[in-house]
Amino acid sequence: MELWDVGVLMAGMMGGLAGGFAVWMIGLAAARRSCPECGQFLPRWRIPANRRQLLWGGDTCPQCHCEVDRHGQKVECSR
Ligand SMILES: [Zn+2]
Repeated sequence: MELWDVGVLMAGMMGGLAGGFAVWMIGLAAARRSCPECGQFLPRWRIPANRRQLLWGGDTCPQCHCEVDRHGQKVECSR
């Protein structure tokens, strides 16, 4: 493999990563969600509370501890 091949490959990978990251950031910025149960704004940056949140996204309301999926639908309330 020639050196410029590696360069093109790396550039492509970095471009793909950067593009994906940009889309992800825009998605996060646009999705300012609030709790469907109590209306509390959900934190944009959170540590996933469980494996489903890690895999699929979603939040836990800091006020009433309802779980909300990535579409803002209530999953379950632990209260
Ligand atoms: Zn809530």
